Amino acid sequence: MQDLTPKHVVVCGAGVMGAAVSYFLACRGVVVTVVERSGVACAASGKSGGFLALDWCDGSELGPLARASFALHAELARQLGTDYGYRRMDTFMLAARERGAIAGGHRVAAPSWLDGAGVVTAALGSPETTAQVHPARFTAALIDAAKARGSALRIGVVEEIVQRDGAVRGVRVNGEIVEADAVVLAMGPWTSRVARNLRIPTVRGLKGYSVTLAAPELPAHALFVDYRTADGRALEPEIFPRPDGEVYICGMADPAPLPDSPEAVEVNDASCAILARAAGRVSTALATAQILKRQACYRPVTDDGLPLIGRVPRVTGAYVATGHGPWGMLNAPATGLALAELITQGVASTVDLRPFDPARL
Ligand SMILES: Cc1cc2nc3c(=O)[nH]c(=O)nc-3n(C[C@H](O)[C@H](O)[C@H](O)COP(=O)(O)OP(=O)(O)OC[C@H]3O[C@@H](n4cnc5c(N)ncnc54)[C@H](O)[C@@H]3O)c2cc1C
Repeated sequence: MQDLTPKHVVVCGAGVMGAAVSYFLACRGVVVTVVERSGVACAASGKSGGFLALDWCDGSELGPLARASFALHAELARQLGTDYGYRRMDTFMLAARERGAIAGGHRVAAPSWLDGAGVVTAALGSPETTAQVHPARFTAALIDAAKARGSALRIGVVEEIVQRDGAVRGVRVNGEIVEADAVVLAMGPWTSRVARNLRIPTVRGLKGYSVTLAAPELPAHALFVDYRTADGRALEPEIFPRPDGEVYICGMADPAPLPDSPEAVEVNDASCAILARAAGRVSTALATAQILKRQACYRPVTDDGLPLIGRVPRVTGAYVATGHGPWGMLNAPATGLALAELITQGVASTVDLRPFDPARL
């Protein structure tokens, strides 16, 4: 295999994509500087569900990426030597209403802690097919492992990708040029704002809310709920107990526009209250649990629903890894590994990146 290893790569953004690319580049001996405007995992990568599924993307272009990533998650949990809450789980589908009960009992054998007004309608996954990580801790573990292999983390705002004669020369960070012979754009929904002078498809931000509740000692189960509020709104909250005693609940899409920075994301207490109430409807243990966090974030989305992973057209040395929508935590490992292969060898062997080629849109 050809060795095209660049001397210095700047990775823009320390969400899970930037972290995974940095880690796999560092494993290949590449000197990496990660430039992050606020903090590691300060946006969606720190506030997401961290739910992982082997085969839920089968039948779409994402299937092979997801399968490769699910396997890599298990390997990373062993290799990184950090406890970031990786575990396999059973996963259930429920139906519940904010007011009133659903006729009939559970349709499949239900865990005893699901003792509220909900009905368990199906088993969606088993420990062979579904798992979870704590997303912020997983992202931080990748960054720490990259740093242990010589990478640097720099806090600063990437303002521009610097090019000369059709090739990348570095990035401008807070007015100062940081030179690099390759640059990876992994700024989630903010990528398009910084890459204005590059030809990549638009990445937008889709806002969602989440809360965490204090409820220690719940079993390793993930719940997907078909829910109706008292005023008739149909929601699909997701409920994930974590091994650290927090229970994470997310849902509630919001068309609010993307603000300039992760710190400016506004949290709507009413939306968070609806999510907490939904959890209380499926389990009495959650009905009385204290709310620990109320938060919101924007998942990066593209027009065709597929991520952008690969070379930026017409600029040698520029790469992009973002737009993973609802499956960024799942798909980060294979994205990071495949992009590191592309950057250092000229071709990705872990997965076929052609469906995610930024030149397709
Ligand atoms: C509510 C919710 C629940 C989710 N649940 C799951 C789940 O269960 N499973 C799953 O697989 N996925 C889930 N996702 C999706 C997943 O969280 C995202 O796809 C993923 O986190 C995106 O990672 P990213 O690195 O592309 O972007 P981000 O996490 O947004 O990271 C981008 C980083 O770039 C930085 N940045 C931005 N601009 C600049 C700049 N100019 N200079 C320097 N740095 C900059 C930001 O500060 C940020 O740290 C969920 C998403 C949401 C919103």
